[in-house]
Amino acid sequence: MKIANKTVSAERLVRDALEKAKHFADYHIFTYINEENAINKAREIDRKIANGEKVGRLAGVPYALKDNFLSTEGQTTASAHILEGFDSPITATSVKKLEDEGAIMIGRTNLDAFAHGSSTENSYFGPTLNAFDKERVAGGSSGGSAVAVALDIVEFATGTDTGGSIRQPASFNGIYGLKPTYGCISRYGVVAMASSTDCIGFFTKTPDDMNLLMEVASGQDPKDLTTLPDYYNESKITRAKKIGIIKEFDNESVDPEIRKALKHKVELLKSEGHEIVELKMPSLRYALAAYYIIVPAEVASNLSRYDGVRYGFRSEKSETLDELYDNTRSEGFMPENKRRIMIGNFVLSSGFYDAYFLKAAKARTIIIDEYDKAFSQVDYILTPVSPNPAFKLGEKIGDPVAMYLEDMMSVSLNLAGVPGLAIPAGKTSAGLPIGLQIVGPRRSDKGLIEFSKELIEDD
Ligand code: GLN
Repeated sequence: MKIANKTVSAERLVRDALEKAKHFADYHIFTYINEENAINKAREIDRKIANGEKVGRLAGVPYALKDNFLSTEGQTTASAHILEGFDSPITATSVKKLEDEGAIMIGRTNLDAFAHGSSTENSYFGPTLNAFDKERVAGGSSGGSAVAVALDIVEFATGTDTGGSIRQPASFNGIYGLKPTYGCISRYGVVAMASSTDCIGFFTKTPDDMNLLMEVASGQDPKDLTTLPDYYNESKITRAKKIGIIKEFDNESVDPEIRKALKHKVELLKSEGHEIVELKMPSLRYALAAYYIIVPAEVASNLSRYDGVRYGFRSEKSETLDELYDNTRSEGFMPENKRRIMIGNFVLSSGFYDAYFLKAAKARTIIIDEYDKAFSQVDYILTPVSPNPAFKLGEKIGDPVAMYLEDMMSVSLNLAGVPGLAIPAGKTSAGLPIGLQIVGPRRSDKGLIEFSKELIEDD
């Protein structure tokens, strides 16, 4: 990570990033460019450096902020029409921590509206394009953030991962993406999707950058009672010996080139002296079904606050209060948001609660137990991130189930609260990035990042 110092000024770093952001405008990466604020902040850092004053660990580092993080710079829209025009009165704890160390936000990035999706095509502002092939999706929901890093516009970007939204776009664009342990980083001030699985994380180009950001952002926050005491900065790392691979993920539904990339890394690990253990995790095949019940249930609850009265957009057509709610929500939400509200309210309804929500909650407990059992046998697990590399724009948008299947290998981590790091693992014959994920037990985030260095090879 290039930090401002006596040789390179913060203003230079920020101006370069802003210029690149403009150069790549046709990728639809940003929903807002923070030009004036960013340059003023950079000048302030340069002034401090010139005066010999102390600056933070991220002094002058330009970064991109997924547009579901609240801050007073730019409007937070979550790429949803219903939030358009919303000026946040608060700043997310994670953003505050980054800025306290001198990081400079140069723009807010595009996402699937409210982070519902796996391609960034559900954005009210239109899709973000893949960094390697403009006819393909960026992945999602944090597509804008992933492409901002992959195209080298910024040094890092923030993301949220409820079921894969950091790891999948990271893998589609050939960079690192970490979903930390649930509760590692404060969710305060981030637009809620599903509160029991939402995690804040980052996109970077190197494991060391990821480690630095985690050191800065992790820790307990009195404003988010689900945060854990700071274990990250206390973590002691021992070298991983046993690495698991999941038998259930090695099947025909996974692209052969991705299976080959996994096998290749397994051979590399063996040659480095690691023991490979084949794990049977049969309940993972129910993870997607459980996820698409639990998450919509929480989504329906979290989205009920958008009523046209308190935040952003309000439909002007209405004569009564009920019409105002109806019209605002009908016009303001994207089809995928509405689908989840419908499913969520259905699975929570009195007649169906036991059959759907309760059953999914039980399946979740079994999945948690299965991960705990797996980590009594191995240090980490290596799996693909998604069954395929980046797909074509428009290919899955009309078929919600095909889109949900994208998340087959990512959602179980969120249900179990365990961390996962997406790493670049070569390219397909067509030149598209392939990503793998390293999964670890809860609170092993630092070890995961360190272990990922053993998987780095020259291209
Ligand atoms: N693709 C998943 C979904 O649509 C994950 C989204 C996310 O992690 N925000 O639910």
